Amino acid sequence: MKIDRRSFLSLGVGVAAGTALSPLPWKLTDDLSIWTQNWPWTPVPEIGETSYVNSVCTLCPGGCGISVRKVEDRGVKIEGMKGHPVNQGGICALGLSGLQLLYGPTRIKSPIKRVGKRGGGQWVKISWEQAISEIAEKLDGLRTSGNAHTVAGIAGSRQGTVPQLFKRFLTAYGSPNFFYTPSSADTYQFALQHMNGVSEAPVFDLENADFILSFGSGLLEGWGSPVRMFKANTGWKKAKARVIQIEPRLSRTAAKSDRWIVITPGTEAALALGIAHVLIKEMLYNKDFVDNYAHGFENFVTDKGEMKKGFKQTVLEDYSPETVARVTGIDSSAIILMAREFAKAKTPLALCGKGQGKVPGKSAAGALRKRPGKGSRKPKRSHGRACSERTGGKRQPERRRISPACNGNSGLARGRNGSTCFGRYESATAGCYLAQY
Ligand code: SF4
Repeated sequence: MKIDRRSFLSLGVGVAAGTALSPLPWKLTDDLSIWTQNWPWTPVPEIGETSYVNSVCTLCPGGCGISVRKVEDRGVKIEGMKGHPVNQGGICALGLSGLQLLYGPTRIKSPIKRVGKRGGGQWVKISWEQAISEIAEKLDGLRTSGNAHTVAGIAGSRQGTVPQLFKRFLTAYGSPNFFYTPSSADTYQFALQHMNGVSEAPVFDLENADFILSFGSGLLEGWGSPVRMFKANTGWKKAKARVIQIEPRLSRTAAKSDRWIVITPGTEAALALGIAHVLIKEMLYNKDFVDNYAHGFENFVTDKGEMKKGFKQTVLEDYSPETVARVTGIDSSAIILMAREFAKAKTPLALCGKGQGKVPGKSAAGALRKRPGKGSRKPKRSHGRACSERTGGKRQPERRRISPACNGNSGLARGRNGSTCFGRYESATAGCYLAQY
């Protein structure tokens, strides 16, 4: 029998349609999934009472709320917590796989003790009782001999309550030596402390922003909580909010933004200050707000009677669009346009920080520290909390602070028309200045 093209295609379509309409594929899929679940290495939870425990995912700094489904004492699934302000029930693939971390076969589940030489890689498992008793004995010996201060503790991150618990324990024991591993969050907290007088991270009203000026933030690459960012980005598209991405490379965020502004790497701060120049010059900022709550905007006299140049004069003198254009490589007319659009928006939001622990160069705070006219001033009080200018015994170059203007006690920065705005990481300083206008 001769099979021509027409009959071959008819046969193919007929077989495909017949297979799809028959119960065969569904039965095969079902059998396959039952078969894979019965592999000896596939964990099968015991049958028992099901319960949920709410918690917060710590696998990235996003802080999504999670609900862990448990059968008896064993967690069997991690789901996004419904109604949680960060993720609203959503969860990413990493958060979903959190149980792999908990039950991974290579995880160390009991105390181990080194035997042999340091660096020899020889360890033996010991019981919790033995570990606690040996450590307690050692700690007791050190304190009795007056060497409590020689004990140091180190935490991998600041997240959660466990590091605080250790810190408190060491304080009670008699040692001030508790350390965190350094991260870009330190820089962020530093900027927040100087801007707001408190180092707690602000919350951004992303969902209600109508103009997003991103200073290189990887909004779609892992900035903040990816779950929340994807939802916010979908909302921005629906609400026709404008996203302006300022970045040297065509990142995913840049490709998806409404406008991608190519900037010379590391000059984001100069651009932020150039935008501030236009906002101040054209009186596009919230004057009432700045006049009543900001410190350091106008020229001021220090406690020692020294006259200091304020933010306004510095920005007007040193960051004209033409000067900034030379530094950033962005046309001065584009800087002016950006500033006007930012000011025109009802709920503008300025964001910075790369996300995933990365900081884009020595951006805003660095630029502010290096600008002409730097000096020093005494710590001021903001919301009743000291904002020290000293670090490690050395006086730091002057940092402008409009902290009281940034927020109330909430850690939120209020932008023009009361919108919630702020920056992140080093660029937080300039981001906050922008947020005032
Ligand atoms: S984005 Fe994913 S990894 Fe990060 S906190 Fe949320 S669920 Fe966890």
